[in-house]
Amino acid sequence: MLEGAHVKLLQAENLVKHFQRVRAVDGISFEVAAGETLALVGESGCGKSTAGRLVLRLLEPTAGRVLFEGEDLAKLDDKAMRARRRSLQIIFQDPYGSLNPRMTVGQMLEEPLVLHGLHPGKTAERVKELLNLVGLAPEHAARYPHEFSGGQRQRIGIARAIAVEPKLIVCDEAVSALDVSIQAQVINLLQDLQRRLGLAYIFIAHDLAVVRHIATRVAVMYLGRIVELAEKRALFDHPRHPYTQALLSAIPVPEPGLARTRILLEGDVPSPIDPPSGCRFRTRCRYAQPKCAAEEPPLREGVACHFWQDIPSAPSATELMPVNERLTRLQAAFRP
Ligand code: SF4
Repeated sequence: MLEGAHVKLLQAENLVKHFQRVRAVDGISFEVAAGETLALVGESGCGKSTAGRLVLRLLEPTAGRVLFEGEDLAKLDDKAMRARRRSLQIIFQDPYGSLNPRMTVGQMLEEPLVLHGLHPGKTAERVKELLNLVGLAPEHAARYPHEFSGGQRQRIGIARAIAVEPKLIVCDEAVSALDVSIQAQVINLLQDLQRRLGLAYIFIAHDLAVVRHIATRVAVMYLGRIVELAEKRALFDHPRHPYTQALLSAIPVPEPGLARTRILLEGDVPSPIDPPSGCRFRTRCRYAQPKCAAEEPPLREGVACHFWQDIPSAPSATELMPVNERLTRLQAAFRP
């Protein structure tokens, strides 16, 4: 969290998205403050990417609403929404798939400027400035996406997202496809831009080592619901929900000689077509009791579990340290 007041930039209220019978997102609420990074984490299929798209109105919610700077996005007409889109951008996992192979980088960066009428008559200068901001050279403007490495393409994706001076960017598995050393460079870049431009991020990821580095707060999702939402340090040092405890225990420890007690989850993730009654995690929870099948635990004090105060804590901060230190070392190595 930033110092000072929690300025609400975005509020998602009871968001629901069903794709026919699939309950991809099933009633989630969260806020994002200006300049912070909220990470959405969870296994594949938990609804985190759908949540990111709902926030951007790339998908219409089945129920619930999204307020941006206090304004309900669903109530905006097309013109007002187009203007709002400037403030809300996305960076995808696959930079190559999101870049037009027939356009030069310069053309790709100019396109949103023209669309939003920004920097008239000075778009070439702005393109240079953007390339500089993301650590690319001016001559890169004349090249095509296939002439770049994966990390460079992601920099182009970031330049395109920041071209229109957004306030919030959804980073959807934005570093997942990159090597760990390139990941560190791109994370450094995202953090630098956040500081310089005051950006807020919704950082969607399954890699908790990366999330630990970049997040301000973390929302853990399971089967379309948020099961825990906490400040990063609190979540990593004292995970309260049994699912968060299991996820954290699964982070690999790269250093030889170090071992962690891994909490194995029983069974598979149930189908989002027919999730378990009561607590959705109960079929895999080793602490489940009869009440868990009968009543869905609300997200209260940042945790959705009837019995979190009774279950043993899972010390993870010290065990996680090697992963964090490794990333810090990598980032330090790549800082100019
Ligand atoms: Fe486990 Fe019950 Fe808590 Fe769900 S509510 S996480 S089943 S103890």
